[in-house]
Amino acid sequence: MTANLQNPIFQDDAKAREWLEARVWPNGPVCPHCGATGDDVTKLAGSKHRPGLYQCAACREQFTVTVKTVFERSKIPLSKWMAALFLLTASKKGVSAHQVHRSLGISYKSAWFMMHRLREAMRSGGLAPMGGPGKTVEIDETASGRIEGAPKRARRAMGGFGRTVLTLVERGGSARSFHVEGTTLATLMPIIRANVHRDSQVMTDAASWYKFLPAYVDVASHDMVEHGDDEYVRYEGERVISTNTVEGYYSIFKRGMKGVYQHCGEKHLHRYLAEFDFRYNTRVALGYNDLMRAEALAVGIKGKRLTYRRPRGIAQPRAN
Ligand SMILES: [Zn+2]
Repeated sequence: MTANLQNPIFQDDAKAREWLEARVWPNGPVCPHCGATGDDVTKLAGSKHRPGLYQCAACREQFTVTVKTVFERSKIPLSKWMAALFLLTASKKGVSAHQVHRSLGISYKSAWFMMHRLREAMRSGGLAPMGGPGKTVEIDETASGRIEGAPKRARRAMGGFGRTVLTLVERGGSARSFHVEGTTLATLMPIIRANVHRDSQVMTDAASWYKFLPAYVDVASHDMVEHGDDEYVRYEGERVISTNTVEGYYSIFKRGMKGVYQHCGEKHLHRYLAEFDFRYNTRVALGYNDLMRAEALAVGIKGKRLTYRRPRGIAQPRAN
């Protein structure tokens, strides 16, 4: 099994379906309607059935591997979905819908919609708190979008409103990013409280709102680096006080948003964040290669569907 373009799953829809079924159903087909497995599920072979169709004896429904996933009701061949999936997971800064449109020979609208569905599959929700005893969680926020490029202090002077991103990164672990409405305590603190294990060591810069963090969030310790005094790392015995990890995350995020996704609308920002979090959380340093990352995304297609409401007066790419 290779993750390069020679792989038959990028040309052959039957092979693509086989590959996807093995990831979504590692223990054999599962009815997405009622959860039945084993002898209750029969593959419907033969030319009068569409490929990959199964019959469930328990609920009498039929299904394929894409039912109740982000691929549901797509007219795009599965081999092209697989190519898009591998492109998106293997590109460190992301891949534009224009690139996918050109590379796969599909319309721009289809490519745009595919990429958003794949981002939805990258989204993880309801996770356990980050950090824990002896672990460090770095927290920072950044502006994304038009005021990008202004010095951080200038953006903060503007109140930090607009497209603000809050990111929590566990050192040597995963990242979680949120699109937030500015940097008020009422906005930031509940997210930090809900996502950081109380035994964690927390590190931030010295922005005014973080000074109040210990009053709102119960954690083992909270240290701040004084970026204003040109301090980036401070050593206290064994402890390394810095926010360099979360800033490393932002450097990839910003290069991607600037270089690949220049026209990200505010209402889609959370999906781009899911994409950058996903790749960070399946990065090489955590033992993932391109194939494992693609497999992790294939597993994530389950139980997620994406529908778009069309705001009045704004033309949106249609589902294909
Ligand atoms: Zn069923």
